[in-house]
Amino acid sequence: MTRSAIVTGSTSGIGEGIATALAAAGYNVMLNGFGDPTAIATLQATLASTYNVQTAHSAADMSQPAEIRQMVADAVAAFGSVDVLVNNAGIQFTAPTDEFPEDKWDAIIAINMSSVFHASKAAIPHMKAGGWGRIVNIASVHGLVASANKVAYVTAKHGVVGMTKVMAVETANEGITVNAICPGWVLTPLVKQQIQARADKNGTTFEEETDAMLGEKQPMRKFTTPEKLGALAVFLCSDAADTTTGASLSVDGAWSAI
Ligand code: NAD
Repeated sequence: MTRSAIVTGSTSGIGEGIATALAAAGYNVMLNGFGDPTAIATLQATLASTYNVQTAHSAADMSQPAEIRQMVADAVAAFGSVDVLVNNAGIQFTAPTDEFPEDKWDAIIAINMSSVFHASKAAIPHMKAGGWGRIVNIASVHGLVASANKVAYVTAKHGVVGMTKVMAVETANEGITVNAICPGWVLTPLVKQQIQARADKNGTTFEEETDAMLGEKQPMRKFTTPEKLGALAVFLCSDAADTTTGASLSVDGAWSAI
């Protein structure tokens, strides 16, 4: 039977890369996320026709628990199961703690952290029923170390790493694995916005700020790509990874090694 995956936040960036890699590996895929409806429909149709799998899209807002539960129910209705859940949707906002807007704190905690709990809670019973499941949480190097001006993001990502461990322990003998991927810099719209904001603030070019930003934190001055993260997610879903659980896998050019 074809296995089925939900990838949250997969209309852009890392999520799109992981959804593409899972479709290429033969999984039916439910996409999720915001964006231009025509572009989303095209992505959905292209994955289906290129890889001969079923695809669907849920517009569920990851800040809304009821919509998250509905997304999981919709995937089960569409595909018959949810075997893989990739919790990837995320947003960013930067400011010092004493200036950090409360609405941004609430949104980041809800979308980047609480959604992982709500989606996993809804999906785990289906995985237990099938005796097989994979949860892959896209945390961040900021699930392991801090940076200034990212209080909500760092808090949320540390929470995701903690949640990964709890759920791995709870499901260890259910045929289910739960792991976190902790990327360093990946050049996606989320990061392009941060680079452009720095360039605007410092009166520099996008290229100058890219070099400066990579050099500040990451010993390897190279971006990770959504394709590389997709390949790792597919590995975590493979039988070879069936004892890899509760892990936080750094893909960060040695950022967290120093
Ligand atoms: P992105 O902005 O390119 O994509 C974010 C995706 O999430 C989009 O599909 C967007 O529509 C969706 N999304 C945003 N808010 C949502 C909501 N409320 N409900 C449903 N979907 C929503 O970002 P990205 O860089 O691909 O980031 C993806 C994940 O990877 C995030 O969790 C991010 O924290 C994490 N991450 C990114 C980097 C990086 O350098 N880009 C590094 C480490 C971790």
